[in-house]
Amino acid sequence: MSGSAQCPRSDLHFDIHHAGFSDCSIHYLEIKARCKICDKRMVFQGLPLGMTPHHPTGALDGGEARLPFLGEGEELTGKVIGFTGRVVDFPAGVDGGP
Ligand SMILES: [Zn+2]
Repeated sequence: MSGSAQCPRSDLHFDIHHAGFSDCSIHYLEIKARCKICDKRMVFQGLPLGMTPHHPTGALDGGEARLPFLGEGEELTGKVIGFTGRVVDFPAGVDGGP
């Protein structure tokens, strides 16, 4: 068993970044996490790829969670942009896929 597998992850460092935009009301909290003991990066599970004001998303490798939020009672206004996606497995040697 490796050292990192035995690590209790009892001391995690969270890197939290707030992103807001002047032209729309949505804000995002972007979260990364790393173990201070073994330096292993934490991978967030179950988040769809992307960045959208409509639901939480994550980075392609799971290394960042993105949580959209508004002030209580506020509406989503302004020029909203974003994207979502999913990872698909391409057969070897096939370009483009479905
Ligand atoms: Zn650790």
